[in-house]
Amino acid sequence: MSSSSAPLVLVPSSINIDETFAVPHIVRPGETISSLDLTSRPGGKGANVSAALGLSGVETWFAGNVGSDATWPLDELKKRGVKTDLAGVLEGEKTGRAFIQIGEGDGENSIVLLKGANFPSSSDVTPDSVSSQLPRPPTHLVLQNEVPLSTTASFQSHARKEWQGCVTVWNPSPLPTRDELRSWKWDELDVLIVNQGEAADLIAALSEGEAGGDKEEPEETMRRLSSIESMRQLPWIVMTLGARGVLASINSGGDRILISQPPHKPKQVRDTTGAGDTFAGYLVSSVAMLGGKGLPAEREVVEKCLRRAGVAAAMAVEIKGAMESIPGEERVEQRMK
Ligand code: ADP
Repeated sequence: MSSSSAPLVLVPSSINIDETFAVPHIVRPGETISSLDLTSRPGGKGANVSAALGLSGVETWFAGNVGSDATWPLDELKKRGVKTDLAGVLEGEKTGRAFIQIGEGDGENSIVLLKGANFPSSSDVTPDSVSSQLPRPPTHLVLQNEVPLSTTASFQSHARKEWQGCVTVWNPSPLPTRDELRSWKWDELDVLIVNQGEAADLIAALSEGEAGGDKEEPEETMRRLSSIESMRQLPWIVMTLGARGVLASINSGGDRILISQPPHKPKQVRDTTGAGDTFAGYLVSSVAMLGGKGLPAEREVVEKCLRRAGVAAAMAVEIKGAMESIPGEERVEQRMK
């Protein structure tokens, strides 16, 4: 493979600090309590998926913003092999934060979010600014929904128009509004990744149908989702099912083939935070490492990619934390034997 076509994954997305307070119980209005502990960890869906991509061994560029008050989450990405030269350090903005209270007694949690530099008041990353700094055009673009949706949409459109053959991947989490989903340019998208709850909400937003919910058989949720007008032509729809594995609907020459991948069994389940981002990162990495342009549509090849992603995600639930729990490529290969 020549270096000009070597995979390059771009992630224009979010980065946060997760500040977790261990409290006796979630604080009540008017109450003051002491936290038993505080842990500050790197987080944000964009950072987590970038870390998974970097650890999986594929060239990954993160393009998001931190504030000048706390830049260390970028160091955590660098440690995991992610290139952060495109990331902005914004003066006068604060790094995004999630303030998480976890009640010691009942394990209940409550979260206060500060979007901070993920939603900058000025100078957000743009496809043009990123293009001029990258060594070559991205072969894969990974999008989520923790930065302004207009930024996400502009990258998707730019990829389709300017980055020839670039595979666009969207994990629309948290799910945009019904109107935003209805006006989304679905024809610019190659891979949609959702969990079953998001799939059900997407069906409700895009069709007049019922939401269905988690109780519905996954095959039925996928059948309803993939038969919606704007979804029919989507090359890949991937629905993650937590401990039940994953279901994919692949457009193979106009027909849709359904692929069900059973879960890899974790040695123990300690913390499922970050499993979805680990899955998405390793899935895109597996596709990117096949080389060549575009997406595979052959069952065996797709199954292989889904399996590697499933093993990595199952390994991530064995360890506490989100980014800290993402395994490196060698450990994943070892586990797959
Ligand atoms: P999200 O966090 O986005 O809702 P899921 O919970 O569906 O994502 O998890 C993503 C993937 O991680 C699943 O498809 C599966 O491969 C893996 N996974 C998550 N939880 C478990 C588990 N308990 N056992 C095995 N694999 C799991």
